[in-house]
Amino acid sequence: MSSSRYAKIIIDISADAVDRAFTYRVPEELMDKISIGSRVSVPFGRSTKKGYVTELISRADFDEERIRDIGSLLPDAVDAREEILKIALFMAERYGSTFNAALKAALPVKRSIRKNSRQKDPARTFEELCGEDRLLPGEMNSEQKVAYEGILSETGRPCLLFGITGSGKTLVYIRLVEEMIRQGKGSIVLIPEISLTYQTVRLFSAYFSRRISVLHSRLSAGERYEQYMKAERGEVDVVIGPRSAVFAPLRNLGLIVVDEEHERAYRSDTSPRYDTREVACFRADMEGARVVLGSATPSIESYRKAQSGQYRLFELKNRAVSGARLPKIYISDMRRELAEGNRSIFSKELRELMEDRLEKKEQIMLFLNRRGYAGFVSCRSCGYVVKCPHCDVSMTAHNEWYYDRSGSRTDAARLRCHYCGHEAMMPRRCPSCGSPYIAAFGTGTQKLEQEVKRAFPKASVLRMDADTTARKGSHERILAAFSAHKADILIGTQMIVKGHDFPEVTLVGIVSADLSLNVPEYDAAERTFQLLTQASGRSGRGERSGAVVIQSYEPDHYAISTAAAGDYKGFYEREMSYRKLLSYPPFCRMLCIRLQSEDEELLERAARGAERYFASELSGGGNALIGPCNASPYKLNDIYRKNLYIKQFGHAIIGHNINEDAVAELIRIREALHELITEKYRGIQMSFELF
Ligand code: ADP
Ligand code: ZN
Ligand code: ZN
Repeated sequence: MSSSRYAKIIIDISADAVDRAFTYRVPEELMDKISIGSRVSVPFGRSTKKGYVTELISRADFDEERIRDIGSLLPDAVDAREEILKIALFMAERYGSTFNAALKAALPVKRSIRKNSRQKDPARTFEELCGEDRLLPGEMNSEQKVAYEGILSETGRPCLLFGITGSGKTLVYIRLVEEMIRQGKGSIVLIPEISLTYQTVRLFSAYFSRRISVLHSRLSAGERYEQYMKAERGEVDVVIGPRSAVFAPLRNLGLIVVDEEHERAYRSDTSPRYDTREVACFRADMEGARVVLGSATPSIESYRKAQSGQYRLFELKNRAVSGARLPKIYISDMRRELAEGNRSIFSKELRELMEDRLEKKEQIMLFLNRRGYAGFVSCRSCGYVVKCPHCDVSMTAHNEWYYDRSGSRTDAARLRCHYCGHEAMMPRRCPSCGSPYIAAFGTGTQKLEQEVKRAFPKASVLRMDADTTARKGSHERILAAFSAHKADILIGTQMIVKGHDFPEVTLVGIVSADLSLNVPEYDAAERTFQLLTQASGRSGRGERSGAVVIQSYEPDHYAISTAAAGDYKGFYEREMSYRKLLSYPPFCRMLCIRLQSEDEELLERAARGAERYFASELSGGGNALIGPCNASPYKLNDIYRKNLYIKQFGHAIIGHNINEDAVAELIRIREALHELITEKYRGIQMSFELF
């Protein structure tokens, strides 16, 4: 409510040219109705546009004569709270997006739930699925208590809760949320991805019954809006969801938990390319809330901040369930297996342990980070690899089946692009040389399932990957079935390694540890270490002790050996010296600029133009440009993409702290390049990521 006569308004058009606030007059009748965040319609040029009030001012900062009146207050729109506007401004500045794009990421679309659709409270659906198994609120053990009290006593700094898998981080979060409720404050609990919603909501709803709202992208627009408004109206104490839940409009925010903080999914890969952890810290700082980042395998960046004192560090070093110990880890050297004549997917060790567990009626998880039947399709005569016509990637073979007219089952291979979804039939002959020797190579989860069924015909098997979870609710069904021991073996992609707590699993097999190691990214070792540790952590979480088998062709790599030894600090040191040697983050700040266009030739010119401009105007002061080089994949959905990296050498860390001047310098460069591209190369899309 205000009696201000003027308002600054950001117009809702996603074009860079209008991405700034315009001044309007507040008409008499709206004076006490308008506030910061109000959604209004205003005259703009010759048309009417929608916008948000970002500021109220009493004096015109512009020629009085030319200021126009606000048209009206939009009655049924989602107003943005002032805090959310500030977050959007921060995001626009930090990640180089437009304010509008940042705000769109933060706000839901107003939409009511369709009356005929089955109206279900998402939190309710999860409870129903697992049959209301109310948990007893457990007492914290001494490690958990130390962390809990320490976190409550910390004012100002974010806390890193480094607790091994199964150490009971969740109970610490629950106790903290409870304390917040006692203080009359709300909490946000972030999880890396939708597949974890089920179990997190299940746990939290056991404690906080229905004062929870769930926000994720699988909800319909109507459901999302409904959940959002529950938070807005103060009907919930906890909001749970993947990264966009960080914008939940809780009043009197007390706590933001970022669980599994190391996960890549916390970095948005569409514009604005924000880092949820940074947004969480910014928001918490602004609203006087606490941040807890939790992980069994903290990101290199976060652990470094904890080392330097920017974060406060708490450790949980033991598994919480009494008697539960970390699993015994075996590394199978697949080179040796091959030399000894074993050509199957399973090493001798893995096969024997699987037999043992099936015998004892204990559960098994098999992890393979590739879905589909086979990795790629290629011609053995000429080497041709079948690629997607829209993307610069090879097509993956999927096994499909149908019943023909006589009712008998027919198998058919189809090729699918995992990037754009394009589908094609498996060719009978090589499209390039006509040879009939064209075949699928490599192993995906479908083939693994087939092999498991062949080797262990009596075992019942579930598979969880993007193909089996495409429909709404399928994640939950698979997890609930496995949790109720309706299957002996769960096969899956990285979807199954994160966070799940199945006490009856006593064997985890990592079918190919090398897949994530051999990707051309600076943090491939970090991601491999995390994946292996998290996957191993699924084993032996109950009272029976567990085992893990890691299959690899590179068993001596430090990411594999330290993960097998459960040695995070050993890994951290090796990885830091590697990054230092090659000047990778956190030893340098790095700005990644992505240029893209349907027009390949224009893209080439723009990339060269940016390179030249950088060399003549922006280099020096410890900067270096790497690239331009083709993004991976280069072509995606018929759009060509190139990357330029700007590294800020030398000054990234001063003493223990990040040199924020380096960031400011990179932001300056980003703005200059942005101006160049928008002015000179129309039709090029640009996005940024700051490491
Ligand atoms: P993390 O998230 O750290 O991997 P979880 O929070 O999933 O671990 O906890 C692992 C298991 O330990 C769960 O089954 C949980 O119920 C149990 N647990 C947690 N805290 C305690 C405690 N204080 N006493 C007994 N069991 C606990
Ligand atoms: Zn061929
Ligand atoms: Zn494609």
